[in-house]
Amino acid sequence: MGLNELTLEEASNMIKKGDVSIEDITGDILSAIEADRKSDKPVNAYISFDLDHLKIEIENYRLNHKTPSLLNGVPIAVKDIINVKGTKTTCASRILKDYESPYDATAVELIRENGGIPAGKLNMDEFAMGSTSENSAFGIVRNPHNRDRIPGGSSGGAAAAVAGNLAIAALGSDTGGSIRQPACMCGVFGIKPTYGRVSRYGLVAYASSFDQIGPITKTVLDGAILLEAISGYDRRDSTSAPVKNEKYSDYVGQSIKGKKIGIPDEYFGEGLDNEVRRAVEYGIKILENAGAEVKKISLKYTRYAIATYYIIATAEASSNLARYDGIRYGTRLVSTDDLDRLYRENRSRGFGEEVKRRILLGTYTLSSGYYDAYYLKAQKVRTLIREDFKSAFGGVDIIVTPVSPKPAWEIGKMLDDPLQMYLADIYTVPVNLAGLPAASVPCGKTEDGLPIGIQLIAYHFNEADIFRAARIIEEGAA
Ligand code: GLN
Repeated sequence: MGLNELTLEEASNMIKKGDVSIEDITGDILSAIEADRKSDKPVNAYISFDLDHLKIEIENYRLNHKTPSLLNGVPIAVKDIINVKGTKTTCASRILKDYESPYDATAVELIRENGGIPAGKLNMDEFAMGSTSENSAFGIVRNPHNRDRIPGGSSGGAAAAVAGNLAIAALGSDTGGSIRQPACMCGVFGIKPTYGRVSRYGLVAYASSFDQIGPITKTVLDGAILLEAISGYDRRDSTSAPVKNEKYSDYVGQSIKGKKIGIPDEYFGEGLDNEVRRAVEYGIKILENAGAEVKKISLKYTRYAIATYYIIATAEASSNLARYDGIRYGTRLVSTDDLDRLYRENRSRGFGEEVKRRILLGTYTLSSGYYDAYYLKAQKVRTLIREDFKSAFGGVDIIVTPVSPKPAWEIGKMLDDPLQMYLADIYTVPVNLAGLPAASVPCGKTEDGLPIGIQLIAYHFNEADIFRAARIIEEGAA
């Protein structure tokens, strides 16, 4: 077995005991990446892997960590939208292809403080916009379970790297499902923490009122360990929550006896693939057998979630991405004295199709004639969706749903039909609209061997119940 196949927990214990060195592990990871690069249909999980930088990171680790720590020198791969000082952060965009981070994201700083080693920048949809990882200026990502299929997105590189043993564990980001959906399609664990739990400082903004960083890992326990490392209050993020950090690994293995599980009718309707439905129902049975009490609930505003999300997210994106003009931010791709032309051509050449579509949509809904009809209305519906969850959580501890209506589809299948692709986000975006924590846990496979995930949603700052239930599903579905 290659050391690239280790879980975070195993790798951390082996380094601590002196059984393996950090270089042994990174060596095996790099060989696996090299082998992938040479293969017929490469997974292409990474955008860059700076070896000189890795050496410096390892050296610094040895200087600063003489005693055991939470992560003990385990390399953690990072989605290329999160800043790691001294390495490139491209956001999978041409417009940032030469951008080198002058500072660290707080989550990265915390990984280091807890003894982890940021190693490699992962491929993704450009600026985290997409559900398939096909919108990358650095080539598509393939699903390690089936190379002709998408890995999901936008953190497709992260999920594919972890599933394909090209990383031990990874950091992704989730604005409308981008941690949970690729984790689901690649058969790994992924958790989007409560909004405010993990600092967004140093995470390049897509839609700031939704964005959260979170772990994508091989096991539930690994996810708990990594979340513990990166969460906590940060005064540099004004939306960071002043709540106490928790030792999430303590919850892994705890009972869920007497916990109330809510099954929302609206998440099991039309459009849900039969194999996915069966797997999720099986997952619910596992929780019931473990002593949970299952009841039906209703989240009646679910059908407005996609429209609401895509109005607000694109509005925020159009504002956040205004800074990439080749002057203040972004590579200058044209040389001209004509200022208008400079803006126009730089942005036309620098951004991909999907990013441009969203900037246009967002600019439109924010424009003075349409602001009230779209943006303001969407904000009101967002409140209704939040309230919907709030009253549901008055009667249950965890809400269980599918993650994606379908397992990983063929590469190229939905690329020309963006609306169809947006609709596939139906089970993940409501969670972001409400700022809730939610995870995807592997829960069986299709007949063709494609992974299926189950979504566990909890109320604000109740990641504890997610970890309790997730571990029970992990055990039961194995
Ligand atoms: N697929 C959704 C979108 O394209 C979610 C992306 C994300 O979570 N970053 O906006």
